[in-house]
Amino acid sequence: MDIKNISVIGAGTMGNGIAHVFAQSGFKVTMIDVNPAQLEKALATIAKNIDRQIAKGTLSEEQKSSTLGNITTVTSIADGVKNAELIVEAATENVALKLDIFKQIDASAPNGAILATNTSSISITKIAAVTKRPELVIGMHFMNPVPVMKLVEIINGYATKKEVTQTINELSKQLGKIPCTVNDYPGFIANRILMPMINEAIYSLYEGVAGVEEIDTVMKLGMAHPMGPLHLADFIGLDVCHSILKVLHDGFGNPKYAPCPLLTNMVTAGKLGAKSGEGFYVYTPGSKDLKVSENFK
Ligand code: NAD
Repeated sequence: MDIKNISVIGAGTMGNGIAHVFAQSGFKVTMIDVNPAQLEKALATIAKNIDRQIAKGTLSEEQKSSTLGNITTVTSIADGVKNAELIVEAATENVALKLDIFKQIDASAPNGAILATNTSSISITKIAAVTKRPELVIGMHFMNPVPVMKLVEIINGYATKKEVTQTINELSKQLGKIPCTVNDYPGFIANRILMPMINEAIYSLYEGVAGVEEIDTVMKLGMAHPMGPLHLADFIGLDVCHSILKVLHDGFGNPKYAPCPLLTNMVTAGKLGAKSGEGFYVYTPGSKDLKVSENFK
């Protein structure tokens, strides 16, 4: 399958990174978001991340202008997907929202276009079932931050054609990534293993076994993790973690996946981690200092 034009739906934490890596590899990218301010912010983030690469000497000014020149932005899904050979959906982790978006993509994307989702946990088979082309629907799960992380977890839905899996594997390699193909069960591999660990770290805090810094230090120094689980949860987004745990809980029907009540409370209170300025830690723009939230002192 010859792929040159990619549409990325959702310009949040993941969408801007996905648009960045495709554009930097020479693909024409249309970035789509319902929120125009989010599109502006995404372009600014991409420019800032490229500047960091220029400062390190890994990218040139010419590559910056060609990468940014490869990206256009629109707010309408119908307009944004009509010329794409591949659509990568990276909108909010919500089942009803994703099913609605896939119906819209299916109605406007060219016949034969591959429809991929960056979902962290939602069933690819369920998403595929609302389209008229389930054989062309696949999971293409990038890791955060996309320009840095090498893995792409590729998820085969029940009906995904072998040629589609092969195309997405090859495309991931073209982006300089390492693809790894798995089957479609709740949380796939990455989050089926990661989220219970994060949830257990939150339970340890909730039950008073240890404080935020102690929990993160034990896992960093003891297990050689680059980031403690509570810091990582803040970085992923506590709302995203909560949604993934609910998908695991519903999908397996096993109480061990139920989100810790402390996580539920934090999400309800709007403490979503780095993106909202506070989670287990407090985040001040422009500062690398990591301070534990007053709630946990
Ligand atoms: P986010 O909240 O940062 O961004 C979501 C974006 O989707 C927002 O800009 C929002 O305006 C947009 N959006 C909502 N409804 C839309 C619609 N109908 N049409 C177009 N845009 C719409 O979320 P995120 O963290 O970037 O997550 C996006 C997806 O990536 C989710 O499925 C998530 O599970 C997955 N994911 C997240 C991470 C992570 O670390 N945050 C890692 C891997 C995968």
